[in-house]
Amino acid sequence: MNKLTYCPKCGHQTLIWDGSNRWSCSHCDFVLYHNCAAAVAVVIKCKDEIFLTRRSQEPGTGKLDLSGGFSEPHESAEQTCCRELHEELGIQIDPSRLRILMTQPNVYRYRNMDYNTMDIFFEYEVEEKFPVRLETEEVSAGIWFSIKELPIDEIAFPSQRTFFRKYLGLLH
Ligand SMILES: [Zn+2]
Repeated sequence: MNKLTYCPKCGHQTLIWDGSNRWSCSHCDFVLYHNCAAAVAVVIKCKDEIFLTRRSQEPGTGKLDLSGGFSEPHESAEQTCCRELHEELGIQIDPSRLRILMTQPNVYRYRNMDYNTMDIFFEYEVEEKFPVRLETEEVSAGIWFSIKELPIDEIAFPSQRTFFRKYLGLLH
């Protein structure tokens, strides 16, 4: 982040990063905010099992993940859930059955850039396990885990590990 030093407006090397989410130019009035991005994560639950995917790309290659992803501009979090689950797993979900559980901040590092996110966690309960068609190169497998035997330490993101510790506490 601190490698961005040239102002894209006036061209001087006078861009200053505040160490968090704002660049400003000391030579002109240019300001750029790199604000928190919204992202969703969906706990697909069938009785006492939940569905996780295994990541096949950075960050967190080989580790476990919940289905979900970044919200697109002008999209609701529920619409993001529908779109991402369709893109990743080839399933159509009913947005009215999504239940929001909690939010957690996260830092998503992609190609040496840190993206601060607000992860929004939803639960989606299904009556029966669905046939999974992995539709994207982002995930290599879909796995059902018994909630009691969930390998929390194998989950890629700290926000999801924090979420699961709280979520498992809520279930008991
Ligand atoms: Zn400038």
